[in-house]
Amino acid sequence: MRTFPTFIDVTRRPPLIYGGGDMAAAKARLLAKRAPRIEVATTNPGEAVYRLAGEGVVEIVNAPPTISSVRGRPLVIAATSDTGLNADISTIAKSLGVPVNVPDEPALCSFILPAIVDRDEVTIAISTDGQAPVLAQRLRGWLERKLDPKLGALAKIAGQYRDRAARALPDGTTRRRLWESVFNGEIAAAVFAGREGEARQLICDAIDTAQSAPPAPARVILVGAGPGDPDLLTVKAVRAIKSADTILYDDLVGPGVLDLARREADLIPVGKRGRRLSTPQKSINELLGSLAKPGHTIVRLKGGDPFVFGRGGEEISVLRNHGTDIDVEVIPGITAATAAAASTQIPLTDRRYARTVTFISGHGPGGGLPDFSHLDLAALRDGGHTLAVYMAIATAHLLADALTSAGWNTSCPVLVVENASLQYERRVRTTIAGLANGRSTLGLKGPAVMLIGEVAGLDVAGSVIEEHEASAHTRELAHA
Ligand code: SAH
Repeated sequence: MRTFPTFIDVTRRPPLIYGGGDMAAAKARLLAKRAPRIEVATTNPGEAVYRLAGEGVVEIVNAPPTISSVRGRPLVIAATSDTGLNADISTIAKSLGVPVNVPDEPALCSFILPAIVDRDEVTIAISTDGQAPVLAQRLRGWLERKLDPKLGALAKIAGQYRDRAARALPDGTTRRRLWESVFNGEIAAAVFAGREGEARQLICDAIDTAQSAPPAPARVILVGAGPGDPDLLTVKAVRAIKSADTILYDDLVGPGVLDLARREADLIPVGKRGRRLSTPQKSINELLGSLAKPGHTIVRLKGGDPFVFGRGGEEISVLRNHGTDIDVEVIPGITAATAAAASTQIPLTDRRYARTVTFISGHGPGGGLPDFSHLDLAALRDGGHTLAVYMAIATAHLLADALTSAGWNTSCPVLVVENASLQYERRVRTTIAGLANGRSTLGLKGPAVMLIGEVAGLDVAGSVIEEHEASAHTRELAHA
């Protein structure tokens, strides 16, 4: 993608079109949608250009291709039949920083003309970066059918009440809610039905109501962002992200997920992971409390599910004890273990191999394992059980020791899934004996979850799987 979409004001000075043929006339008709004056430089105007001049749409001028003719133009189109001349005009315009378009000569253009859906105040410009104009036209047709012809009228009416709303509702969030209700409900419907007077009255009423209403309480929504792939967000999570004024997000939240935020939303990274600058949980709790202001919506976006090794519970307690009125909501997300299970098509439970599953964390204080004294690992060792282990790459060897001491068979299969659900997902299959060799042999860098138990030895969907060398068991599996 080479071009960036912008809208150019063509009302102050007339754009200049070089050429007198049908192409020049076509471009003039397009510009005439917005430009009150258009100049066409030609000594030999064709019939179409003549007609446009007769209708007052364009003015035929004597403007040789020189710096002084081009300087200060909002844009220039070089559509003569002389390719050398078009190239010269392009060079002049580029040297002056004046946007220039030469039809069918992308290399000579500094801007391209989009396909346009025109609803007066509302203009949609579609570009395929010059790659597929027919696709752009198809999209245009589709949008034309979807969008009400009176969309521009709605924007115009709203514009007339903008100052009034700004004075009455100084708080930006309250104002945004007002406009969302205007564009979404009966007011828009009234405009589309041609009842503009009624729509105006309803806008005034809505402003008055919003002004006298008590401020809505602050909202904090803990949102599970899933394992990374935005397609794995819930519909409710998408809605929450789009409504947020502020988003506090973890390291593990995928970039595609943040793209869903409103452009004005404040995005605050509060990652806690290792090497990079990190935010301690205490600061996150304080930040959440201080941001929770009346009328504001804060989304606390957490990788996976907020209540699975996400410290969501602690944040909820802090918010509940915060004193001011805060509405708290939790939206679940797909946790790493189920994401890994889905993408590898390895069931966490299956009546034939595992009737129970336990989610454990391998990350304890001081970089060691957590305290497993409450967990009877020995009772789980005799098959029929799946362990889903989070945050255990650094402590893999310690986990292997703990399981072996609890009597687990060292040949028990282990499937490690790194970056589950993402494009660069990797799977490594090993055994508890293989884990004992530690992190370096696993060669993993990103977040990874381990599935341990009989199910981890089942066939994995998809081709990319690294069998961990050290283990005799995996060799057996590979040759089975
Ligand atoms: N709340 C999260 C877990 C946070 S703890 C959830 O429900 O998934 C962080 C750990 O989650 C990582 O160390 C890793 O074990 C696991 N994890 C998170 N995203 C992952 C992903 N895309 N692939 C594999 N493991 C992931």
